Amino acid sequence: MAELLSETVEVRTSRRVEVIDITRPVEEFASRVGGSGILVVKVPHTTAAVTVNEAEPGLMEDIAEALLKLAPIDYPWRHNRIDNNAHAHIAASIMGDSRVVPVVNGRLVLGTWQRILLVELDGPRRRRVSLYYMKAGD
Ligand code: ZN
Repeated sequence: MAELLSETVEVRTSRRVEVIDITRPVEEFASRVGGSGILVVKVPHTTAAVTVNEAEPGLMEDIAEALLKLAPIDYPWRHNRIDNNAHAHIAASIMGDSRVVPVVNGRLVLGTWQRILLVELDGPRRRRVSLYYMKAGD
């Protein structure tokens, strides 16, 4: 029988728009719980996102910059009439709120250069990253 295990990781962001490598706490969770299954990494937020990509510092800044080009902060978005963060909602919608990572024997299955990245789009804030692990039975 499968069981669902969950945990919340708190991440404090320091800039309005930034990309942060959160692989380590996710790895620690998978290693502590062990076994094999499917892990969902999800943010319960509308102005942050999760992606999987390379954690090269220049690239992480490039991703942030590209998102700001797609959805500029200083465009007359309708949502800015009530809340000055339409760019963040739009970029978060494009990126998505979650990623699925397989776990085998307590280890995340990621490619050599793949890392789990939190995308802050309206920081700085304290963000929650929810981990939902559907662990396969023996
Ligand atoms: Zn808003």
